[in-house]
This record gives sequence, C-alpha cells and structure tokens, in this order.
Amino acid sequence: MGQFPFTRTTTPKAKPADDSLSFGKVTTDHMFLMNYEEGKGWFDPRIVPYGPLSLDPATSVLHYGQAIFDGLKAFRGDDGQIRLFRADRHAQRFNRSAKLMSMPELPVDVIRDSFEALVGVDADWVPRKAGTSLYLRPTIIATDVMLGVHPSHSYLYFLILSPVGSYYKEGVKPVRILASDAHVRAVKGGTGEAKTAANYAQSLSGQVDAEKAGYTQVLYLDGVHRKYLDEVGTMNIMVKIGDEVITPPLAGTILDGVTRASTLQLMRDWGLKVSERPITIDEVMEAGRNGTLKEMWGTGTAAVVSPVGTLGYKGEDVTINGGQTGELTQKLYDAIVGIQYGRTNDPHGWTS
Ligand code: PMP
Repeated sequence: MGQFPFTRTTTPKAKPADDSLSFGKVTTDHMFLMNYEEGKGWFDPRIVPYGPLSLDPATSVLHYGQAIFDGLKAFRGDDGQIRLFRADRHAQRFNRSAKLMSMPELPVDVIRDSFEALVGVDADWVPRKAGTSLYLRPTIIATDVMLGVHPSHSYLYFLILSPVGSYYKEGVKPVRILASDAHVRAVKGGTGEAKTAANYAQSLSGQVDAEKAGYTQVLYLDGVHRKYLDEVGTMNIMVKIGDEVITPPLAGTILDGVTRASTLQLMRDWGLKVSERPITIDEVMEAGRNGTLKEMWGTGTAAVVSPVGTLGYKGEDVTINGGQTGELTQKLYDAIVGIQYGRTNDPHGWTS
C-alpha cells in the first residue's frame, strides 16, 4: 500500500453475507498500527494482518483508561465508488480528544492517509447491500508499563475496520428515550467533550436502568442544574418546537458530533430557523404536552438520525408526532444518506 509498509495476511477470513451483518461483530483482515515515544514522536506506521495485541498487565491504559477513539464510515456508492464521510472532521475531533486526554496529536493527513490506505487494502470488505457500510475505528491507547498515575510517555495508534449492517432494516424507526434525573454523563471541566473510553464505561449503568424501564437510551441532563438537555448515550439531540430547531450548544460537556454539524449545516442551507442554545427538559416536556413539540431526533454516525417517538421524564411520557418519524427528520436522513452513497451531489465536499 504505497506509502506504508504492508504485510498481507496469509489466512484471509471468510466474509459474512451482507444480510447477516449487525454492528461491530466482525473485523476485516488487516489493521493499521503506529507507535509513539516521547522525544521520538510517531513512528513505524504499518499495515499488518488483523490480530490480538500483546500488552503487559501493568500497561497504563488497562488501569487508568487513557484511551481515545473515533468512529466513521466508508460507503460503497451505487456507482461502485467507495467514499469516506467527513474523514477530516473525524480526524480533527480525534486530535481534540487526544489533547483533552493529555495524549499526543497526529497530523490530520497521516490520520486520513491511514484511513484511506487500510480501506484500500480491505476494500473488498466494504459491503454492497443498500444501507450497509464499513465502520472505521481509530484508537490511541497509553502503553507505558508502569502503575503510577501520569500521562503515558508511549502510545499505540491502531485502526480497525468492521463491516456493518443497515441500522434501519425496515425504514427509519422512532425510539423511546428516558431523560434521566439519576445519571449524569459529564460536567464542565470534565471529559464530556472527548471521545474517551471512560465516558462510555460510566454510561453503562444508566443504559441498563433505561432498558429496564422500557426505553432504548438515556437523555442526559446537565450535571450542575440537572435541567438542561446535554445529549443521548451515543447521539446528539435536536428538538423542533414550533418552527425552531434547537440543539444544545457545544459548551464542553457534549461531543461535537459530525452528524450534528452536518445536519445543522443542511438545515441552515434550507433556510430553517436553527438555534444552538441551552434548553431545559421542562420546556421540552411542556412543548410535548401542548403540542408544539413537532419533532425530536438524535444524530450520530450509527443511525444518521434516530427519531424520538416517546420521551419519558419523572414518570411521565410524552408522545411526539404521534410516535411517527417527522417530516424534517426523514428529510435529513435522506439528504445525508444520499450524499454518503453518492446518489446526490455533495455541495460541501463531505465525501472523499
Ligand atoms: N455523542 C456521543 C456521546 C457519541 O458517542 C456519539 C457517536 N460518536 C455522538 C454524540 C454522535 O457523534 P457523530 O455524529 O460524530 O457520530
């Protein structure tokens, strides 16, 4: 593979049928690795057969969780061309996460080259069926072998790929979301803005509670006042009240979602009234009761948009748009998916 040393696997795996794909269960034949040492910088980029990493039990990431990752997708278009969606923006966010977690950044073009090179090697793994894609998971872990709590002096960057099935096998489907007054995801000055392992570890108990109560995900409220919307477990959140679309601002506690940015851009292109401002759960519930809450949806790489059909809070449920996918939610989904698969033009140059 051109610029990177490449060792081809001698034992290629059988590829699953596109129909059988779910999320994250299968990985491809190769992975990209690169090491870092303080004073030396990043070195030894290479593509090698996919396989286990060998880590000393005292490796710092295993104890203190100094780890970041990101998640993006490559799509096989109707024209057969493979396109990455917003690779640069994901690379920039990856670096933002690195900085927040006291880890070394990588040049954006090196990150992007690693994406392109590995997807090129495993191109046959990009599924073909409508709605499927190849998920890319770039990760950096702290590799100092030492039990002291400190920023590591050495790191491993790895990139792995996973073919994934269509999130919506039978069309976009509304979900039930629970606004939690018991669980907090992040506070200002914490790690909410970083895509770091600990944020997901600490979200599991809230997720379990939400599922027990009959909901699919948690809507987190701010950690200080416990009243402003933050985000959902793995999605940013948007509401349409009257003719205004409102989403919480990027103020340090939520992830700067790439789908959030893309959908905001599209809605502004379409001339809609869009506000990035704090909004309280009481305002949303009241709008739900009085019928002005027209639509509500989450945004994220996995589902693109996920309409909220029911919002629960303090024992009360409000139904949104009769529990059906709203018109704007569907329009956003169709627009993003159209760009991803090369069906429509790409006015902002998001695919590459
Ligand atoms: N918030 C969190 C906490 C997430 O994990 C994700 C998924 N990456 C998102 C929001 C959505 O971000 P994106 O649109 O970049 O996938």
